[in-house]
Amino acid sequence: MQQEYTISAIATPVGQGGIGIVRLSGEKAVDIAQECFKPAAGGKISDYEARRAVFGYIYKENGDFLDEAICIVMKAPHSYTCEDVVELQCHGGPVVLKELLAMTYRLGAKPAEPGEFTKRAFLNGRLDLTQAQSVMDMIQARTTMAREAAANNLQGKLSERIGEMRQEILGVIAHLEASIDFPEDDIEDVALEEAEMKVEQLHGAVEDLLASAETGQILRDGLQTAIIGRPNAGKSSLLNLMLGQERAIVTDVPGTTRDSIEEYMNIGGIPLKLADTAGIRDTDNLVEKIGVEKAYSYAREAELVLAVIDGSQPLTEADDPIWHLLSQCSGKIIIINNKVDRSLEENILTAEEIRQEAAKKEVEDVYQVINLSAKQGQGLKELEEAIKNLVFAGKINCRESVMVNDARQADILRQAMVLLDQTHMTLMSGMSEDFVVIDLRSAWEKLGEITGETLDEDIIDEIFSRFCIGK
Ligand code: GDP
Repeated sequence: MQQEYTISAIATPVGQGGIGIVRLSGEKAVDIAQECFKPAAGGKISDYEARRAVFGYIYKENGDFLDEAICIVMKAPHSYTCEDVVELQCHGGPVVLKELLAMTYRLGAKPAEPGEFTKRAFLNGRLDLTQAQSVMDMIQARTTMAREAAANNLQGKLSERIGEMRQEILGVIAHLEASIDFPEDDIEDVALEEAEMKVEQLHGAVEDLLASAETGQILRDGLQTAIIGRPNAGKSSLLNLMLGQERAIVTDVPGTTRDSIEEYMNIGGIPLKLADTAGIRDTDNLVEKIGVEKAYSYAREAELVLAVIDGSQPLTEADDPIWHLLSQCSGKIIIINNKVDRSLEENILTAEEIRQEAAKKEVEDVYQVINLSAKQGQGLKELEEAIKNLVFAGKINCRESVMVNDARQADILRQAMVLLDQTHMTLMSGMSEDFVVIDLRSAWEKLGEITGETLDEDIIDEIFSRFCIGK
C-alpha cells in the first residue's frame, strides 16, 4: 500500500559527517531521484537494477553541480516502508543535505513527519507496534543491555509472547463456544474447567511480563540517580570517577557546585541519569540556596540516591540535614563512605557505624554502605555491583528475556490483568459461558493493543510523533 504522497527527510544526524543521507519514500520517490541524480555511467537511475548502489552526481534544477552521491533504489515492497524508497547518500555536510532536501521538496516530496517512515512500515504490516517502538529504543539505547532489550523486541519476541497469549484466549473461547453450540455433548463442564485453569495461567504470564516493565523502563530511560552529600564530601569526585572523565568541577572551596549537572552514564550496562547537585548545608548565599533546594527535590524524586559521606571525619550534627533528607527519599539509598584512602589508615568511620547512624536517624531503605575512594578508585566495582543487583535483583537477563519497556504497554498489561480477574469472577459466579466469552474477548482485544492490532488511529499517531524525523 502506498500512501498518497511521497515523503522526504534527512536520515542521518544533524551536523558534519562523512556521509549524509536523504531518504525518500512513496510513489514518486524514483521520479524525484531521477530529476536530481545523474548516474556517472550514464542513463537514468530507473534503468539500473533495484537495490544497487549507483554512483553519480546531483545537479540542481538550474544545472549547478551540488555533490557527488550514491543512489540506491528499493522497490516496493522490498524496502523499510514497503513503498518505493530511494536513498541519496552524499557528503554529510548540513548545507549539502539541506539543499538536497529542499530540492526534493521542490520536486514534489513532502517533509516527513517524525517517525513517518516507521509509521508507514507499521501501516504496511512490515513491523507491528512493539517492533516499531523498539526501532526508536534501538536508536536511543545508551548501553549494550538497553540495545539488547530493544533488539529482542525488534525481532518480535514481545509480539510473539503477546500473540501466544491471544491465541490461548482464542482457544478457550472456541471451546466455550462449542459447548454453547452443542450443549448435549456434555463438554460444558470440561470447557469451564479448562477456562478456569487457562485464565489463571494467563494471569500469571501477564504478571511476569509486567514485572519486567520496571527494568525495561530503566534500561530505556536511565535510572534517575541523585548524588547528595555535604560540601566537600566528594560528590563531584565521585561523579568524575563514575564517568571516567573530568566532567564536574572538583575544588577545595565548599559550595562550588552550585547548579546541577545531568549526565548519562553506563554502569555495568545500566544507564544512569545522573545529577550532581549542590552540597547540602545551611547557606545565606541565594544562588547556593537555590542549588541546595534543587538538590533536595532531585533526591526526593530519584529512583536511586547516592549519599556521599566524608569518612575521613567523624559524623557530627552538621550531617543531620543529610539524614533528614534521606529519611524523605522515596528511592533506594546507597551510602558511600568516601575518602576511605584516608579514613582506613586513621580508622575514623566504618560502614557499620554509618549503617547504625542511619538507623538511628530513621533512614530506612539503605540498600548498602560502600567504602570508597573517589580519589583513588577503590570501591567503584562494589558500587557497580550494588547498582546492578538493585536494578535486576539477579533476575533478568536482557539477552534472553522479553521485556516491556514502555508505560503504554505496561498500562495495557495492567488492564488485561483486570479483565482476566473479571473473567475469573464470572467463572466463579457460575454465570453462563456467554458471559465468560465476552470477558475473554475483551482481554483478547486489550492485549492486541500492545502490538497495534486493535488500536485507535489517534494513539498510533501519538506513538509515532515521539520518534525523530527521518526515522
Ligand atoms: P563535593 O563538594 O562534594 O563535590 O566534593 P569534591 O568532589 O569537590 O571534593 C572535595 C575535596 O575532597 C577535594 O579536595 C577532593 O580532592 C577531595 N576528595 C574527594 N574524594 C576523595 C577521596 O576519596 N579521598 C581523598 N583523600 N580526598 C578526596
